[in-house]
Amino acid sequence: MALQSGLGGHLTIDLGALVRNWRALDKVSAGALTGAVIKADAYGTGIVPAAKTLYAAGARFFFTATVDEAIAVRAVLQDAHIFVLNGLYPGAANLYVRQNLMPVLSSTSMLEEWLAKCVERNEAYPAALHFDTGMNRLGFRLNEAAVVAEQIERLGFAPQMIMSHLACADLPNHEKNRTQLALFQSIISRFPGIPASLANSAGVMGGRDYHFQMVRPGVALYGGRAVIGRTNPMAHVVTLHAPILQVKEARTGESVGYGAGITLSRETRLAIVGIGYADGFFRSLSSSTGRKGGAVAIRGHICPVVGRVSMDQIAVDITELGGDLPVPGEGVEILGPTIGVDDVADAAGTIGYEVLTSLKGRYTRSYLGEIES
Ligand SMILES: *Cc1c(COP(=O)(O)O)cnc(C)c1O
Repeated sequence: MALQSGLGGHLTIDLGALVRNWRALDKVSAGALTGAVIKADAYGTGIVPAAKTLYAAGARFFFTATVDEAIAVRAVLQDAHIFVLNGLYPGAANLYVRQNLMPVLSSTSMLEEWLAKCVERNEAYPAALHFDTGMNRLGFRLNEAAVVAEQIERLGFAPQMIMSHLACADLPNHEKNRTQLALFQSIISRFPGIPASLANSAGVMGGRDYHFQMVRPGVALYGGRAVIGRTNPMAHVVTLHAPILQVKEARTGESVGYGAGITLSRETRLAIVGIGYADGFFRSLSSSTGRKGGAVAIRGHICPVVGRVSMDQIAVDITELGGDLPVPGEGVEILGPTIGVDDVADAAGTIGYEVLTSLKGRYTRSYLGEIES
């Protein structure tokens, strides 16, 4: 939807902060290559500007989930190395070859289809192999390693990379991290000389043991919290403002919003703000009597959500706000320096990843520090 008026919500993506985050992670993982995971529209920030910016900063290895995302990146970055994490979609090998995309092969059917294409064209098209070391998501099972190694050896096919994915890296003391690390080491010993990759953002922060030859951060690039229970060191990339539509005085004993789920226990000044669940402001940020919900910030002051989040509006309590009365049109911080992505996630009972990837609302989008194309 094209937005021209600029009167609704404003989503600002700070590409300079994105670059600072990539460089910071690159420093932490010095000695390994630092890829960039840009799936789901680069976690809601915009896949094309994010990919171009990261490329300009020095990133050369990109990870998308879908082949469509990869094609969008290929259109703007001719010599980037692009891995498709979802793997090889059946019947799509020609498309990958044409677009110079690397599937992350995770099953024997994917591997066979890719190898058949390589044999047919007499060319070893690069691909990664994904082993499941304990997540039970995509990946070859560990007991398939011998067969896979033998199969590629027979054809003289050297994969570009061996990878696996950590299930619990956000909890650094979780014993599963060590278990997966040990299993991954046993797998890569079967593929000598092939680069290996295990770490997502939290894995990068988990120390050298997890870095191998390439790391694959996603959420930390976009300012999200990777490790639970630690201060988030990343720069915040996303700022979102929505306008006040109306200010009103509500009385003690009155209810607010759909379902009349909250009854005011004092005279309350409300600001009605033009954002709702259709804009990715989750309905789970609603408050009710006895249940705290989410919050926004006005002039740096936290103002709690009152009652249910509607499709297009929320009510927030501005009774405590000092100074001049806010006026319609004034911007309210939904995400930014006062309200972080993970603050919203915590209030909504979700994770920063979902907050970021839900930013598909009716916003005017702008980029700070946009790179030359
Ligand atoms: C999403 C994803 C990543 C990036 O994870 P973050 O936690 O966002 O850093 C890395 N590897 C794989 C396989 C993924 O699916």
